[in-house]
Amino acid sequence: MADAIYQNSYTGAPDISAIDKTEVSRKLLIDGLERRIAGQLSVIIPVGVIGWIASLTDNRALWIFLSLQIIAQLAITASSQWLRRAIETGKNTAIRKNLWMIAEASSGIIWAAMMLDVGTLIGGSDAVLTTWVTILVTMVVSILLAAPIAGIAFPLLGGFTAAGVAGILLFDKDFSGFAQMALIFMCVALFIIAKAVNFQAHKSCRAGIEVERLGQRLAEELRHTSWLSQHDSLTGLLNRSALQEHIEELGDMQTQLILLDIDHFKQINDSYGHGQGDEVIAAVSACISETLDEAAPDALAARWGGEEFIIALPGCETGADDIAERLCAAVAKLTHKDWPARLRVTGSLGVAHGPASAFSATFKSADSAMYEAKEQGRNRVVCASDGGGKTSRVARAA
Ligand code: GH3
Ligand code: MG
Ligand code: MG
Repeated sequence: MADAIYQNSYTGAPDISAIDKTEVSRKLLIDGLERRIAGQLSVIIPVGVIGWIASLTDNRALWIFLSLQIIAQLAITASSQWLRRAIETGKNTAIRKNLWMIAEASSGIIWAAMMLDVGTLIGGSDAVLTTWVTILVTMVVSILLAAPIAGIAFPLLGGFTAAGVAGILLFDKDFSGFAQMALIFMCVALFIIAKAVNFQAHKSCRAGIEVERLGQRLAEELRHTSWLSQHDSLTGLLNRSALQEHIEELGDMQTQLILLDIDHFKQINDSYGHGQGDEVIAAVSACISETLDEAAPDALAARWGGEEFIIALPGCETGADDIAERLCAAVAKLTHKDWPARLRVTGSLGVAHGPASAFSATFKSADSAMYEAKEQGRNRVVCASDGGGKTSRVARAA
């Protein structure tokens, strides 16, 4: 019976056209947060090199900037992990993201300040050149690692560019025109590259989401197709072949069968239309499901065809007649506020039992019992006796 619930929950496969920019940015952010700590490891080497230069040159300001850079890196780790936790727990991310961006921008400013500091305080030496190259390589690597997420690369690069360009303009006597141009050119080039990498990252992330959605869509469609191959789409009950497969699996287990055929259904179609007829079929099947859920949850119910239903009760020899009577009474009470007032629904039921392996013979007995119920005036249950004879059990007023 639980399968019928699945049919109701099927609302169609996921729509890939619904992927918007925010969703892609969010995924990039989550991926970026996962990689951010690994990216920060690339900062260990430059910090070590600059620390070594600071100790060689005994440059106090460089030590201070180095300490500030380490604090900025710790702030990046803390704020990015704080943001990650907010995303995972569904909390508000705006403040945490801003803090993270501020930490990234501060890191960029400190890198630029370090570069200017060695230029102005140490003067032209190998140490300056080594520091410059180290910082520039660090910036390029950091920007490229962060570039897939525009939100990270641009504050870092923005901080570095603003402080770097302002610094070389203020201390322009210490820098050659070539060095100034090279720094400005590098920052502009990094912006362009970061933008292009970010664009590509968006494209491939979107493609990744699409592939994931298509996979979900395929799985959902396959699940639905497999459901349809075993069920009747109008009623959600098992179809004839699925019921037969289940019965085959029961082997020699004693099984009771109940056949239910809606009475004078052709008249319902003729008088109120096929649409109304379909509604009656669906209502009778819902009534069967509800009754069985209460009285026999292990029962198998199928739409045998047209307005005929079959119920199999595996593992018991008695009790089906009572369940059939409950079904007969429930069907006779069926009504709906939107149905025509004169519309009455009743069913005739036949009951028989035998081993599941002798399904055809048991079905034949139940079918004869059901026709006997029709002959006796419909809206009743007839049980086939063990010998194949029939016993009229109930004559019910409509
Ligand atoms: P009886 O009481 O002897 O069972 O009479 P009946 O009219 O119910 O039986 P009959 O076999 O004469 O007619 C069954 C009708 O059910 C014929 C067919 O057009 C109609 N039918 C079969 N499947 C569907 C369906 O899915 N939807 C609708 N609306 N009608 C159907
Ligand atoms: Mg009928
Ligand atoms: Mg029929």
